[in-house]
Amino acid sequence: MKKWFFCFFVLLLLGYGFNKFKTDMSGLPNESKLRMESTNMAETNSQTDGFTLEVSQEMIFQGDLLLVNKDHPVPDGLNPEMEAVSLVRNPELIDGFFGVIDNTVELSPWMMDKFRAMVKDAAEEGVVHFLITSGYRNEVKQEELYRTKGAELALPAGYSEHNLGLSMDIGSSQAQMSHAPEGEWLKNHSWKYGFVLRYPEDKTAVTGIQFEPWHFRYVGLPHSAIMWEKNLVLEEYLDFLKEQKSVSTTIGEDNYQVFYYQVTGNHTIAVPVQGEYEISGNNQDGVIVTIRKSAG
Ligand SMILES: [Zn+2]
Repeated sequence: MKKWFFCFFVLLLLGYGFNKFKTDMSGLPNESKLRMESTNMAETNSQTDGFTLEVSQEMIFQGDLLLVNKDHPVPDGLNPEMEAVSLVRNPELIDGFFGVIDNTVELSPWMMDKFRAMVKDAAEEGVVHFLITSGYRNEVKQEELYRTKGAELALPAGYSEHNLGLSMDIGSSQAQMSHAPEGEWLKNHSWKYGFVLRYPEDKTAVTGIQFEPWHFRYVGLPHSAIMWEKNLVLEEYLDFLKEQKSVSTTIGEDNYQVFYYQVTGNHTIAVPVQGEYEISGNNQDGVIVTIRKSAG
């Protein structure tokens, strides 16, 4: 999958470096205290503090925050298959903290890194029986699942997050996920690693999907943290950003500012603050720009 990841490096003004926004979780302590306040930076900061970005229609359909559900299909042209690899055929990707159910499970090495970082920390707390039961599914695989399991249990091809390459079904080899320590641990800690429980029990009316204690979606920090803190699923979170226009939060040593911009064709947006940035579409009508400033 094509990732929209850019860094904005302002050495003279800010004095901090070009580092691994996507992968570096070292600034995140186990018991992160999340502080959040909604602000409207666009009105309070002068333009000279920020920078401008060229945006285009295609940017709406790329990134980690794409909403995929029955109303919003996987965008045309997105091809995560290029990156996904069979886990069983790449045993170097698998280590002792988890298993893989069979040789059909595919995941991008990039998602695998995220997952490994998470379960490694779980192992330190004695939670070690994770079992990956599904990762990336191409449309053929999804269609077959839809045919054999039916509409109650599977989504049609092109409407499943698994086709996006950002979701994983994670079980426990010891018990059903709803009762297993693995399910409990992920429910409470996965947000620290950028994952969210996508279809919680209390949000079936919003998601339109039954409770799935095994289905985790990667959205990245700080989005997973804000969603956890505010008890929002992705549908609600993207609406929340649209409504607020900008949200700021501090996780560990890192301060994040998140901005929503509507996109209509090619134009320039003015982001009111500087920092390393990342941009993702919402698969609806705009883009989300996330700025990280690290105190460390
Ligand atoms: Zn799933």
